Amino acid sequence: MGNRAYNFNAGPAALPLEVLQKAQEELVEYQGIGMSLMEISHRSTHYERVNDETQQLLKELFGIPDGYQVLFLQGGASTQFAMIPMNFLRAGKSASYVLTGAWAEKAVKEAQLFGETIIAASSEADKFMKIPDLRDIKIDPHAAYLHLTSNETIEGAQFQSFPDTGNVPLIADMSSDILSRPVDVSQFSMIYAGAQKNLGPSGVTVVILKDDMLQDLPKNIPTMLRYDIHAKNNSLYNTPPAYSVYMVNLVLKWIKEQGGLTVLEQINRKKTALIYNAIDQSGGFYRGPVDQGSRSMMNITFRLQDEELEKKFVKESEQNGFVGLKGHRSVGGLRASTYNAVPYESCKALADFMVDFQHRNS
Ligand SMILES: *Cc1c(COP(=O)(O)O)cnc(C)c1O
Repeated sequence: MGNRAYNFNAGPAALPLEVLQKAQEELVEYQGIGMSLMEISHRSTHYERVNDETQQLLKELFGIPDGYQVLFLQGGASTQFAMIPMNFLRAGKSASYVLTGAWAEKAVKEAQLFGETIIAASSEADKFMKIPDLRDIKIDPHAAYLHLTSNETIEGAQFQSFPDTGNVPLIADMSSDILSRPVDVSQFSMIYAGAQKNLGPSGVTVVILKDDMLQDLPKNIPTMLRYDIHAKNNSLYNTPPAYSVYMVNLVLKWIKEQGGLTVLEQINRKKTALIYNAIDQSGGFYRGPVDQGSRSMMNITFRLQDEELEKKFVKESEQNGFVGLKGHRSVGGLRASTYNAVPYESCKALADFMVDFQHRNS
């Protein structure tokens, strides 16, 4: 596959080549049934098997303990921003948010539509270039929950460990770093992720939810936005995004073949080190704006002296087969998203390109 791009897209993002090839093989006729998986009922045993197996694989790979539901929902992580307060922010309570960047801001904004919110900690004064010290996160013991964004995809800052919130349910948006490293899921009451960064294509949002969160949800929530309905119906209340779930299934099998999350984390660290080293050893030619201790293993943000040179970098990178290195339009600069499916070889090629570009421009 010589013509596959070095894909550093932020999302939707690279998928493993083996997964795409398997999907291609099964596209027109799925496992001998004379049809594509997209052409059959979600009530069929074939799809039920995909649904159940995908849940099981996720439980196994992520070490999800008993007492949790795995749901496949629609509407992206953005719909979760609203569903969380709708379901869990009771009258008379407040919801705590750790403000770490653009995605956390969007989550807070939705919660404010439904009730009182508290900013438990914020790195806004540091321009979101640093994850707050865990000791500086104020845990209100009466809060309905504490919400954090484990990896800020746009700024490139990532939690390295998580706060102990005691009896306050901890909820995490892991859209851009789920399954990139082992996590103690039992610390969380809920973890959610839009699939299109680390899990598969867009169209499905994975929600991992502790059973005790499902008790006595408010009655006035629309049916499709109720976690209890989706849990009771095994994510089959209405027509699910079946093909997206199937693609997640293939990605999970691929992760298993790689050796699971411990192995993936090691590979991800090696990939990331190549690029951070190119930044750190450039004598200031490249600058990583994120605090060393908060650097993301999934989204590496960096800057050059001025925007003209950054434009030149993007243009020349594209001529050399690299895709997606332009930073998010809201922050500018450059960004390499190095999700699970981005091969080591792509990161090596980028690090080499960065050194070469520096030589030619300094
Ligand atoms: C991409 C992203 C989102 C938004 O996801 P959608 O599925 O597009 O709604 C939310 N949070 C984080 C951390 C993201 O990276």
